[in-house]
Amino acid sequence: MQDTNNQTPPPYDLHIHTGLSPCAVHDEALSSVIVYAQEAKRRGLEIICITDHFALPADWVPKWYENSGPEIIQRVRKAAAAADSDVEILVGCEAEMVAPGRVTIDAQFARELDFVLLAASHFHFNDIGPQRGASPETAASKMVEYLDAAVRLPFVDAVAHPLVVPNDPFGDPRAVAALITDDRMHRICAAAAAHNVALEINGAAAVHERYRDATHRLFSIARDEGVRFTVGSDAHSAPRIDTLDAAWDFAGELGLAREDFLDPAVLLGRRQDRG
Ligand SMILES: [Zn+2]
Ligand SMILES: [Zn+2]
Repeated sequence: MQDTNNQTPPPYDLHIHTGLSPCAVHDEALSSVIVYAQEAKRRGLEIICITDHFALPADWVPKWYENSGPEIIQRVRKAAAAADSDVEILVGCEAEMVAPGRVTIDAQFARELDFVLLAASHFHFNDIGPQRGASPETAASKMVEYLDAAVRLPFVDAVAHPLVVPNDPFGDPRAVAALITDDRMHRICAAAAAHNVALEINGAAAVHERYRDATHRLFSIARDEGVRFTVGSDAHSAPRIDTLDAAWDFAGELGLAREDFLDPAVLLGRRQDRG
């Protein structure tokens, strides 16, 4: 991929799950760090970040996260060091906002990672957010509450798939997003810009028209507020890095230019700062 114009998205995938994520494919040939690096190279990417689901142990952490502690980070770090790849492999995580302000990572542990992605809309989990079947109004108001809290956390680099709830437990995501006012979105995005928290254009979501429609207004407002964006495939097996194409197409539809994205050099610089 050549950087031929300012519409070209950055050559990275900052959202990848290995077999260490409970929901990913547990197959070395499909979901190991090395296979992702090979697939990324084939697609012309320069940087990938492994972002398995992560939670520091705590009694309020959902049981689903019980094998997702610091030991998985150590395993990814080892695999990345052994990968011997031209692709830069960053070690990050997808942490969880369990309740507004209550997250499964802290500032101290975040310093050990290259990139911290925070999911603030995993409401398909029973113990997070409103329950399946809640009204669109309740879903929208909780979504806003979580997102607003997420963009104010200084150790978060980007919010994963904003406004996207897997499996649509509250019906059509466009109807939910439509209940959030422009004014509310402006205030959230201004906070994100002020706290240097990026919003992710998520490939796995962007393949679906309903999610592109549901997030279009938020992302347009974010761009106007000077928020940075990241792109991530959210692949759960290496072939699914291909959803980046949908993320890039969507970024093009949104009119995002290269400077709207978190710059790869800035990203790598943060890594060094954290040392
Ligand atoms: Zn997620
Ligand atoms: Zn994910």
